[in-house]
Amino acid sequence: MNDTDYIPIASLNQYAYCAHRCWRMFCLGEFADNQYTIEGTSLHDRVHTLGEGHREETWQVRAIWLKSERYGLIGKADLIEETDGRLYPVEYKRGKRGEFDNDELQVCAQALCLEEMTGKSISQGYIYYAQSHQRQLVEISAALREQAIATITAVTTLLQTGKMPPAVYSKRCSGCSLHRACLPQAVAKVSRYKEAI
Ligand code: SF4
Repeated sequence: MNDTDYIPIASLNQYAYCAHRCWRMFCLGEFADNQYTIEGTSLHDRVHTLGEGHREETWQVRAIWLKSERYGLIGKADLIEETDGRLYPVEYKRGKRGEFDNDELQVCAQALCLEEMTGKSISQGYIYYAQSHQRQLVEISAALREQAIATITAVTTLLQTGKMPPAVYSKRCSGCSLHRACLPQAVAKVSRYKEAI
């Protein structure tokens, strides 16, 4: 595989949030910032300094690249830790625990890469929320693995075909930095108008 054939792990997170947003970002190359993306970028800039060390009994490595030949994935992990022989990824996120499960999917994809790279089984990961300073445990369950693999398949198809998924208005749109470019409510209104005439 060429490096360009790999799917960015972050695209799975975006697809799970909104397939249309994923298409805009990874097929059209569109991006716009809002308060949430700026806070997220600033957090990752602080976290993404390659380094290795120990924190008490826990071995840590930051900003390491992960890759899976089997699933065609590539991406940078914020933090990988090993405690008592347990290896697991830790993904940093701004804010508090989110209402959606797209972050869990991203941690699962990192675990799939780590398993392939190390030969070890990964049963857990964590999401660290910067605002609450709390870690949320992510069980790398069979159901989450299935969901991650299905999302990898869907994103692969999206990137290969470039076919636009519909923009469907939902409560996620209010936090989406591409809302102004997408205007899902206006598009739906125009469609309804066209159908009526
Ligand atoms: S505004 Fe809504 S439909 Fe449009 S890309 Fe964002 S989340 Fe998706």
